[in-house]
Amino acid sequence: MTTILSALALLVVMALAGRLFARRARLVYRLVRMGKPAGRTGDLARRARNEAVVVLGQRKLFQRLVPGLVHALIFWGFVVLFPTILMAFLGAIDRDLTIPWLGHQGWFFGLVDLFCVLVAIGVLSAFLIRKVQRPARFEGSHLGEADLILGLIALIVTTLVGWHASRIALGIAEWPEAWSPVSNAVASLMEPGDWLEVRERIFVWWHVLTILVFLAYLPHSKHLHIATAGLNVWFGRTRARGRLEPLDFELEDESAVRFGSGTLADMTWKQMLDTVSCTECGRCQDVCPAWATGKALSPKLLIMGLRDRLLAEGPAVLAGAEPSPLVPGAVTDEVVWDCVTCGACVHECPVSIEHVDQIVDLRRHLVMVESRFPAESATMLRDVDRASNPWGKAQAERASWADGLPVRVLEPGDPAPDLLYWVGCAASYDERARATAQATARLLVEAGLDVAILGPREGCTGDPARRMGDEYTFQAQARQNVETLGDAQVTKIVTSCPHCFNTLGSEYPDFGGDYEVVHHTELLAELVREGKLEPVAGEGTITYHDSCYLARHNDVLAAPRELIGRIGRPLEMARSGKRTFCCGAGGAHMWMEERGSAINEERAREATATGASTLAVACPFCTLMLDDGVKQTGSDLRVADIAVLLAEALPESGRA
Ligand code: SF4
Ligand code: SF4
Repeated sequence: MTTILSALALLVVMALAGRLFARRARLVYRLVRMGKPAGRTGDLARRARNEAVVVLGQRKLFQRLVPGLVHALIFWGFVVLFPTILMAFLGAIDRDLTIPWLGHQGWFFGLVDLFCVLVAIGVLSAFLIRKVQRPARFEGSHLGEADLILGLIALIVTTLVGWHASRIALGIAEWPEAWSPVSNAVASLMEPGDWLEVRERIFVWWHVLTILVFLAYLPHSKHLHIATAGLNVWFGRTRARGRLEPLDFELEDESAVRFGSGTLADMTWKQMLDTVSCTECGRCQDVCPAWATGKALSPKLLIMGLRDRLLAEGPAVLAGAEPSPLVPGAVTDEVVWDCVTCGACVHECPVSIEHVDQIVDLRRHLVMVESRFPAESATMLRDVDRASNPWGKAQAERASWADGLPVRVLEPGDPAPDLLYWVGCAASYDERARATAQATARLLVEAGLDVAILGPREGCTGDPARRMGDEYTFQAQARQNVETLGDAQVTKIVTSCPHCFNTLGSEYPDFGGDYEVVHHTELLAELVREGKLEPVAGEGTITYHDSCYLARHNDVLAAPRELIGRIGRPLEMARSGKRTFCCGAGGAHMWMEERGSAINEERAREATATGASTLAVACPFCTLMLDDGVKQTGSDLRVADIAVLLAEALPESGRA
């Protein structure tokens, strides 16, 4: 009789909690499903690997050891403790019911004891981090909700230990009690007598009800990510990180063409899933150069703003209402334009949210539909479109940096080159950046390579226009360049500019351009390794600035360091490698006024703090930005491209 009543009572509370969970979960599912197609179905092996490494292995969280460990303890604890939920539900119906086999295994209850303690330590540490350490990254997060969730988790593990202890005290534990030292110790504190039976019932029901409250509350809180984050990681990017998803303007169904995100109705389902997967951990905000320098953009608040809009307006949109603009509304114009597309947020995010794609899609709508963008960048967009370079200079002058150098300018009909040097607009036209092109060409000739350039036929890759949101202009540039490269039968390209490197290597394949693309630091390192260039090491100290589009977006980390190790004494900056800090030029910011304090000055101060005498760079935009930053901050650091430093380190007699 008692068993039937208990089963009925359990069914009622489960139905109640299940209904609350299912109603909200169904709404979230319908909201995500309303998104536009995102094409995230292929690459199953890569997705499975990401799931294993990022979700199960918690790899991204371990980028910060202490908070990573805290989260991992709680997460792994829940994985191990999962079967105990079913055991508790069965036990609540009848204390003699349990899962066959596993419910009698001492080693399993030993693990449960261990992980209850570890989860409790994790929860306590999380509380201490929030209440005592108070990291700035939590600014703007829903901390009250997080406290409630942590409290519920603590209650789940303590009632579980209490339940196991009361079973040991009653002598009805299904496993040898020696396996559970913690539950056993708690049991020894329980006095014998009739209350033990009541206590066992209280603990199991308290435990079960806490789990059900947790379940019902979960989808209504920011901890919705517990249900969505694994999916978001599964559907995350599997292609090159620096690649933006192209817009298809030539769809047969014109109404299906996307022009970025103007309202909820334009967002893809992956972008919607992103927003409901945010844990509000603030890791993205912590590394964002825009936020660090007092600008309006916080990638965390951007995603939260889009999520709030989705949850507030989404149900009405599902019912047929007109969606309202995302900018301004969910986010402000300043937020959209502050981004330098450095990707630090994406690299840091533990649940694979794609902030850059969201921001560029917001820009695309503003630029292509509303013609709304910072006035100062209008000239750049026009010049890329009309002059094929963002400086608006004559194409005829493109190769003038090479005057007097043994560099072959490819004419139509010339034989295909083994290697094409793609110079890029900055190194072609800017006086300070030209030194990089000249040094690179000299070094390649010195190493015996036949250096060919396209000269006036090389056009801007379209990168600044694309990062601004002008996908039309970008695609026009891409198609023209792919045609030119195809006519010249180019198969291998070396480039000095990480933006060109990223666009040619990761984005042009979407437009039919498939080439082997190497960065000049990679090729030069290879030539030094092969003994074709023999630099003489100096005594000078050199700190190296990783360009975002080289290190973070494209994993080129070792080659520049290998070269610096051959020509001087390296000193690392506090933020380096994939966790580098932007120079401030990315995302077309080279052509925008900067609000707040200057990103390049912050980076220049960091470089100066190493005590190095030279700041080495591997990007013409970084050269210009950091050279300015160094001057503005009054530092006496010398800023120079690695190619320039390498050329200077060659014995005088050997130079070309
Ligand atoms: S890409 Fe860089 S600047 Fe843009 S939001 Fe992310 S961290 Fe901030
Ligand atoms: S976007 Fe990612 S890193 Fe940023 S707060 Fe959300 S979960 Fe954390």
